[in-house]
Amino acid sequence: MERLYPRFIVIHHTAGFDVSALTIDGYHAKQGFGIKISSPKPLVDEYIRRGFRQVTGGVIVSIGYHYLIRADGTVEKGRPDFIQGAHCTADQMNFRSIGVALTGNFDSKDNPRGQKGHMKPTPAQMTSLKELIFYLMEIYQIPKEHVLGHKNVKHAATRCPGDRFELNI
Ligand SMILES: [Zn+2]
Repeated sequence: MERLYPRFIVIHHTAGFDVSALTIDGYHAKQGFGIKISSPKPLVDEYIRRGFRQVTGGVIVSIGYHYLIRADGTVEKGRPDFIQGAHCTADQMNFRSIGVALTGNFDSKDNPRGQKGHMKPTPAQMTSLKELIFYLMEIYQIPKEHVLGHKNVKHAATRCPGDRFELNI
């Protein structure tokens, strides 16, 4: 397990419905994204209390993102900030960025009529996203040029977080 020193923030949409971090953890477990966290104990206990999978000496956290922002603006913690992500292989971003995902599918090609989740970020999501980004920029001293949509990462072959997502900071 590699310790993450975040130099970037990468923003995603989940490309799906408004579901909890724990639900997405289940999806990502099937993709083999799980990582065992053994310490610190209060953190391990918190994940167990939230329903993540307890194993001998720790807990398995599979959700690939570090943060998930729900449609109502609630920010749910994904994997701990100090753990490598599983959200963007391009340009080694799993090892040097914090991954933030908004629930919904903001791509007009993939989700033209909302059949795959809400079609654009809710105002509450954008408010929470900006607050979170400013907080992360501050504590990790990340410049705003290093705050990227997934599709803007070098060599990333994706439309994520969709053409209906727009961020001005
Ligand atoms: Zn993405």
